[in-house]
Amino acid sequence: MRRLVWREAQLLASRAETATARTLVFEVPGWPGHLAGQHVDVRLTADDGYTAQRSYSLAGPADGDRIELTVETVTDGEVSPYLTEVMEAGDQVEIRGPVGGWFVWRPHDAAPVLLVAGGSGIVPLMAMIRARREAGSRTPFRLVYSLRDPARRYYADELRRPDPGLDVSYLYTRATPDGWRRAAGRVMLDDLAEGGWPAGFEPDCYVCGPTGFVEAAADLLLALGHAPEKIRTERFGPSGG
Ligand SMILES: Cc1cc2nc3c(=O)[nH]c(=O)nc-3n(C[C@H](O)[C@H](O)[C@H](O)COP(=O)(O)OP(=O)(O)OC[C@H]3O[C@@H](n4cnc5c(N)ncnc54)[C@H](O)[C@@H]3O)c2cc1C
Repeated sequence: MRRLVWREAQLLASRAETATARTLVFEVPGWPGHLAGQHVDVRLTADDGYTAQRSYSLAGPADGDRIELTVETVTDGEVSPYLTEVMEAGDQVEIRGPVGGWFVWRPHDAAPVLLVAGGSGIVPLMAMIRARREAGSRTPFRLVYSLRDPARRYYADELRRPDPGLDVSYLYTRATPDGWRRAAGRVMLDDLAEGGWPAGFEPDCYVCGPTGFVEAAADLLLALGHAPEKIRTERFGPSGG
């Protein structure tokens, strides 16, 4: 297995996705490339040598030495507020990766795809959507995106633009847009039955988000008859060390 090394990464630019989330564009000289769905470890080192590291999903397909991450600010968090609120273009962190070989989608994969995102769990799924578009793949994708309220939507403009073969449905857990046909509440069987594929189509299902969301959504997919080996999950629980 290839040994992962820490590489210097320089922040080139960042942009707001929501009031609490930012996409960060890094240049990582020597970056070996990655697959949609993989993540990296980010390490910060303080002046006194103290280090903290956390995992972040790659938000787009491989693009030379450039990678993009989208980070949600966790109030009182050690690492995320530094990345989203303190770092400026030119600043450096260390990045190690890519990590993960199971929660990935490759453009030659032909089975229909169901993506189920909870909150910032959209990040690696967006990498899959972008990889599909970039490759000109005709594999049909459906995305069910659960979020607290409409203002929390990442990549809002991009997901609004027509992308043939990609269907997107939203569900809101706390507050809906005016006149929304579904009441606010957690993901339910009907959300995945209507927004997803029949189990008989044997789609590849990718579920990502906070641990509770991932477990609930994976159980619903099993109840809908999807085979366990067709359900890949990624939990955004607290990470680090
Ligand atoms: C494989 C993987 C991929 C990930 N990808 C992303 C990503 O693309 N974007 C992203 O924003 N995050 C992602 N995360 C979560 C990320 O690694 C950190 O856990 C998160 O940024 C919080 O770190 P922190 O140092 O700011 O908070 P910490 O100092 O670690 O924690 C502060 C407090 O917040 C709680 N907390 C920690 N993490 C979370 C969380 N995720 N949600 C709610 N409360 C939390 C802790 O329990 C603690 O009470 C990923 C995690 C994993 C395991």
